[in-house]
Amino acid sequence: MSEKKLVCVSCPMGCELTVVLEGKEVVSVSGNRCPRGEEYARAEAVEPRRVLMTLVRVEGGMDRVVSVKTDRPIPLRLFPKAMERVRELSVKAPVTIGTVVEKDFLTTGANLIATRFAR
Ligand code: SF4
Repeated sequence: MSEKKLVCVSCPMGCELTVVLEGKEVVSVSGNRCPRGEEYARAEAVEPRRVLMTLVRVEGGMDRVVSVKTDRPIPLRLFPKAMERVRELSVKAPVTIGTVVEKDFLTTGANLIATRFAR
C-alpha cells in the first residue's frame, strides 16, 4: 500500500486529500468535504489530467501565433506528444476565439481551440 497527498483544486476550499493506493488501485480517499473531492482524487491518483495551453502558428496574417487550449483536460502523460503535434499545426488567419484548430486532439476527445483573435 502507498499513500498520496493531494490538494483538491475543484473549488477554492482546497481540501487536503489523502489517497491510499494498492498498486494502481485506489483503496480509499479521505480529507474531502464533498463527493467532487473523491472524484478528483481518484482521477488524479490514477491518471492525472490537465488542460493544455500553448501557441499555434498562424499563416497568412499579421499575427505569427495564436494562443490555444484543449477544451477539456487531457492525460498529463500525453503532453510531450501533444507539444510535438502542436509544432506541426498551423491555422489560417483570421482566427476567432473558439476556432477549432484540431478536433479530437490526439484522439483524447478534446478539441484544441483558439483562445484569442489573430489577424
Ligand atoms: S473536496 Fe469538495 S469542498 Fe473540498 S476542495 Fe474539493 S470540491 Fe471543494
